[in-house]
Amino acid sequence: MSSTAPLAPVTVKFNGTKRYCRKCNMPKPDRAHHCSVCQVCVLKMDHHCPWINNCVGHGNHKVFILFLFWGCLYCWFCFAATLPTFIELLLSKAMDRDPDIHLLFLMLAAGIFGISLSVFIGFHTYLLIRNVTTIETYEKNRFHTEIRPESPLVRYHNLFNMGVNHNFQDVMGPRWHLWIFPIINSRGDGHSFPINTYVYGSFPLEEGRPDFSTSPE
Ligand SMILES: [Zn+2]
Ligand SMILES: [Zn+2]
Repeated sequence: MSSTAPLAPVTVKFNGTKRYCRKCNMPKPDRAHHCSVCQVCVLKMDHHCPWINNCVGHGNHKVFILFLFWGCLYCWFCFAATLPTFIELLLSKAMDRDPDIHLLFLMLAAGIFGISLSVFIGFHTYLLIRNVTTIETYEKNRFHTEIRPESPLVRYHNLFNMGVNHNFQDVMGPRWHLWIFPIINSRGDGHSFPINTYVYGSFPLEEGRPDFSTSPE
């Protein structure tokens, strides 16, 4: 699988014109979006996270994934550590001692957050290995090759999907021994992204091929 990193943006608005942020008064790079909470354009914006009160994007995607991973692990650790006491209490016939309410609350909270974070990290891992952001799951990229916008093939192809290994290392870094540490070594500058030429090659000829030599009008 080969790739090419285009200098000009390859994504366009729904009407085929350049992506431009009127609030920041500047062109939007591919995959950048304006956050209405942070009031700035964020490179490769994933979503605005109310839990960390910040945007998740190119600059902090890795630490967000690790936040979910370690948080999830910690919740299940707390749940597993408090579960034996709870079972012991249930099996106690005499019920001669009061339940430790703090321990029960910890077990309940850890279980609920553990389930939520497990689902969340599963979803984000799925997006990560497909190189899709949360925003792109409901707002598909439109490439400036769209001659017939009604064609679902051209509109919904993800040209940024470079394969599982490549996508994973783009965010988590190329060195496996640093994957679990909050050291930001994601690849790329967040402005332009490699294009999957295999998918690009599968574009039907009648739809036209992307022309990366010029900027979209
Ligand atoms: Zn903006
Ligand atoms: Zn934001």
